[in-house]
Amino acid sequence: MGLQDRVRKAVEGTTELEGMRRSFGTILDRQRLNIGRLPDLDSRRERLRKLKERCVGDEDLFSDAVASLEGNGCRVILAKDAGSALRAIRSEVSGSKLVVKSKSNITKELHLVQRLSDLGVQVIETDLGDRIVQLAGCDAVHPTGPACHLTRGQISALLSEHFGRTISDDPDELTAAVKEEIAGFLDVATVGLTGANAITACEGAVVIVHNEGNAAKCAMLPGKHIVVTTPEKIVPSLDDAMNLVKLQTFFSTGKVTTAYVNVIAGPSYTADIEKKIFRGMHGPAEVVVIFVDGGRLAAGDSESMYCIGCGSCVTRCPVYEVVGPVFGTSGHVGGQGVYLSAARGALSESVEGGLQLCTSCGECREACPVDIDIRKGILNSRNECLKQNGEMLPEHETVTKSVRNYDNPWQMPRARRSRWAKGLGLPGKGEVLYFAGCSTSLLHPETARCAVRLLRAAGEKPAYLGSSESCCGSTANKIGDVGLARDKAEACFDAFSSAGAKTVVVSCPGCYSALDSCDDLKERHEVQVVHITEFLDERLAKLPLTRLDLPETVTYHDPCDLGRERGVFDAPRRLIEAATGGPAVEMERSRLESHCCGAGSGVKSGLPELSVAIARTRIGHAESVGADMILTACPWCVQNLRDCQSGKESVKVIDLLELLDRALDPTPGR
Ligand code: SF4
Ligand code: SF4
Repeated sequence: MGLQDRVRKAVEGTTELEGMRRSFGTILDRQRLNIGRLPDLDSRRERLRKLKERCVGDEDLFSDAVASLEGNGCRVILAKDAGSALRAIRSEVSGSKLVVKSKSNITKELHLVQRLSDLGVQVIETDLGDRIVQLAGCDAVHPTGPACHLTRGQISALLSEHFGRTISDDPDELTAAVKEEIAGFLDVATVGLTGANAITACEGAVVIVHNEGNAAKCAMLPGKHIVVTTPEKIVPSLDDAMNLVKLQTFFSTGKVTTAYVNVIAGPSYTADIEKKIFRGMHGPAEVVVIFVDGGRLAAGDSESMYCIGCGSCVTRCPVYEVVGPVFGTSGHVGGQGVYLSAARGALSESVEGGLQLCTSCGECREACPVDIDIRKGILNSRNECLKQNGEMLPEHETVTKSVRNYDNPWQMPRARRSRWAKGLGLPGKGEVLYFAGCSTSLLHPETARCAVRLLRAAGEKPAYLGSSESCCGSTANKIGDVGLARDKAEACFDAFSSAGAKTVVVSCPGCYSALDSCDDLKERHEVQVVHITEFLDERLAKLPLTRLDLPETVTYHDPCDLGRERGVFDAPRRLIEAATGGPAVEMERSRLESHCCGAGSGVKSGLPELSVAIARTRIGHAESVGADMILTACPWCVQNLRDCQSGKESVKVIDLLELLDRALDPTPGR
């Protein structure tokens, strides 16, 4: 089934992921509750980020780690790719018919369980969630809560069928049944396979984090312990590993500590009799560490390699919330999964995993303990994909053709763009220039007229480019056509110069972000770009606003490109307060934690069902704080939040400029 069909299926069956959403809510609640117990959280994050910047791709550190591991009696194998990794693992388990295994993302990337099973080797997942997912034959939805989308009723049905007897939906009974079965496998297995949360170069140790106790048993009970891991897990020392463990625990579960941290530095041994080394005293006699490269070393120090696999990014991702593991690649969930695949050269896998699903909202970066900019990574990967394979969704090809042919993404005739300005008498030249952008001009012309009335009311004489106004290139950029985007931005700045503009006032956050991020063009043309909410906020004293006596409870939705991307949070709120006499009610997720409306980055044109489903979630956030009016400052957000409504909802969606325009004092001659 193709990606778009899988997305549609997930959107239609959205209730199937209710359990996952509840579990993610629990993680976020626990993080809020426990954050005070980690007063040094920010400095820990900074330390981890710096460590990753220093260590990922460091070949000397890799050599040190190998030397230390070997010095401790481990055998070390470097597998260049999936094929050689599978051959190495096959050879290490040869002679065994049973392998007990604990959590490891790289083994999922290798499809190891299936590959070994094809060879007649039974692999038993020993983590409860992983075992449930294994029996259910479904995808894991979170690195540390793989089965959190399944209800206890579903698990009861699954286990009853598996064991051939009734297992009730009592969590104790469910847990006991799986525990007993796994204990039987642990007793007889001769090979245990684990991942590693970190490998320390100085001590030559494998660090494994877990709550259930299963990973320790996989590592300790069988005679041979195979660690399958990746080079970017190497950190300089055990101290560094402990910082990583602390952050990984908090960001994956919301807890301040995990139940177990195992440090394994070589095979078990004793020298108690005449100081002669005897290996395999109580634990394994052999420890084999297999580093799977799979394109990682060639990816250099790509940010995608900084990931510690906590899954925090997906607990906040608006796309993942709707489609779950449809978004992601084998072993790596959500946007980070598709970014990682692209970074290690597996572009087709990245596309298949949903490279085009990301709305580029940036929520994941806020959630990431290592500050990984998945959004930027995905946008770069889309561009790479286009350059290498010309690969794009057909709907996105239509969008870029439209930008080329019509100078807007909406396939609307150029002549229609400036119609909204008819009769307003706007000059073509001036120091302050209003840039309306494609979406406002063509879909929300009244908002553009409001913008002009407000600028004039603030004492400005805005100029307007009319039919010379070009698309800013924002949409082309976000769907991967960076060259086209750059051409459009250059055309815009050339027109700004010709019009004598010094300040360009923009009302669409997409245009704002696209134009304001062109530092070289701003400098060359000596032009500053501001969003209209900032511009009006600075002139609030001059604005003749009357207090609107609104019967509604008002909330404000932060557009991603305006808030998280450009840091404009306060100006719109001050304007709302000036027009309504009171602050907007805040939704639980606002400002830096604001939830995307779902329209961004080509998702609305390429996957409209997904876009609308995300918007419905956002409407729900407004309803849950009793709001009956959502104000926002973006034509895309307005459009999408309206498009998701069936007409039965009580929440109106209004552009902030329209509300401010209503509040303008209707003094004649204004
Ligand atoms: S940018 Fe937004 S949509 Fe994209 S992966 Fe991150 S959270 Fe998900
Ligand atoms: S990208 Fe960041 S938040 Fe997501 S799993 Fe990796 S470390 Fe955690």
